[in-house]
Amino acid sequence: MRLLKDLVRPNIWNLKPYSSARDEFHGAASVFLDANENPYPPTSGMPVNRYPDPMQWTLKQQLAKLKDIAPEYIFTGNGSDEAIDLIIRTFCEPSRDNVVSIAPTYGMYEVMADVNNVKYKKVPLGKDFKLDAETVLHAVDEQFTKVIFLCSPNNPSGNLLDREQIFRILKYFDGIVVVDEAYIDFADTLSFTRRLLDFPNLIVLQTLSKAWGAAGIRLGMAFASEEIIAILNKVKYPYNVNLLTQQCVLEILQHEELKNAQVNEILSERSRLESAFRELPFVRRVYPSDANFILVAVNDANAVYSYLINNGIVVRNRNNVAFCEGCLRITVGTPDENTAMLETLKRYFGIFA
Ligand SMILES: *Cc1c(COP(=O)(O)O)cnc(C)c1O
Repeated sequence: MRLLKDLVRPNIWNLKPYSSARDEFHGAASVFLDANENPYPPTSGMPVNRYPDPMQWTLKQQLAKLKDIAPEYIFTGNGSDEAIDLIIRTFCEPSRDNVVSIAPTYGMYEVMADVNNVKYKKVPLGKDFKLDAETVLHAVDEQFTKVIFLCSPNNPSGNLLDREQIFRILKYFDGIVVVDEAYIDFADTLSFTRRLLDFPNLIVLQTLSKAWGAAGIRLGMAFASEEIIAILNKVKYPYNVNLLTQQCVLEILQHEELKNAQVNEILSERSRLESAFRELPFVRRVYPSDANFILVAVNDANAVYSYLINNGIVVRNRNNVAFCEGCLRITVGTPDENTAMLETLKRYFGIFA
């Protein structure tokens, strides 16, 4: 890995971060006249008049226990989308540096690169959406590629990327490698967080938005070396995770067994859907999934998509996405929702095929 100082933008490296009132005071006190807050809540029973902990320590201590990672290795943000933006802003000099990613993959890497005026280089995955480390490394230019984004299990293809190929990229690329594990709970594999000490250039992203059932509260996590986390913390908004979210997460983390039960049900529904899709005559291909969605290639994806919409069922049309032509991405829902979708699809065959 290049020296962190040579990877981080000089203005960020030299940045003196904003210091909030809640950053400066540590200890016990009973009178808080330091942050220009209203001493009264907006209405009774809604104690939101105080600023939240800017570093989210209580929450990180719980996450640390759950993930078996020290709190100093954890960044929490307003969804993992915040972390994606922060990583690009921290490492990539606009209109000079670039990031490399795979295709197809999660759309936010490219959007965040575009927002930051950072060139985004796409490397097509191979047959069956397989990752080839050499092809990715070949797209890297020595000086200006600062970050490689990998997503495993990958969205929208649903497959885990080959671990050995990811290790090759971590080993032979001297910049930052992001492994986005938004769907890790649905996959039968170990998290890359286990390898943070082996690879100082690794950043792992996870989220409460998928398996944990908490997309509405916006809580994303980045795991990396203490040095990288300290820099992300310097760049983030001081109060990037609001009080309600912090409280809600503490409650959610108490119910890991419920998350596990839901994941198990989703996994068994995923197998049911995979088999059922294979029986549909207009389905050309069902891609194997390690996530909570299935990518399906069909005859006339736009027609199937509109037909489902007309029946009140929304799936994701990926027909216009490069390397996903003819594909719909279908999230695994409740057993009833899945049955309704399958019954509707069977009728499509009766009507049109
Ligand atoms: C859904 C998803 C996320 C989650 O983003 P949040 O901002 O945490 O909700 C991140 N990465 C990928 C690949 C996703 O599909």
